[in-house]
Amino acid sequence: MKLKALIIEDNEQNMYMLSFLLEKNNYEVFQAFNGLDGIKVAKECSPDVILLDIQLPEMDGYQIAREFRQRNDFNHIPIIAVTSHAMVGDREKAMASGANGYIEKPIDPDNFIQKMESYFTAELLQRRN
Ligand code: MN
Repeated sequence: MKLKALIIEDNEQNMYMLSFLLEKNNYEVFQAFNGLDGIKVAKECSPDVILLDIQLPEMDGYQIAREFRQRNDFNHIPIIAVTSHAMVGDREKAMASGANGYIEKPIDPDNFIQKMESYFTAELLQRRN
């Protein structure tokens, strides 16, 4: 079955690239360009995975991850931080905020999906097939 991926990303080119890769790999894609919209879209679409940019206007990705983790309906969904904000401690900060995984930009189209799915539970991987 198709898994639903919610992308929260403010950069048009990154959004395009991520959407393209996910759709090509049989995901149903939902998009949000900021955190508030991301939470709204998540309520509407019940995503199976959330790809989360860290540098976003208003709420940053850390805040958004914490918001999702505080909500019972979303606290089990894998959140993968996708960020160019790669400084020492960023991975730890993303994980402490509730992310399950961390992928650095620039995105490598040849292995992005594989990296993302490496953070999935066995149960989620099974549902993908
Ligand atoms: Mn950004």
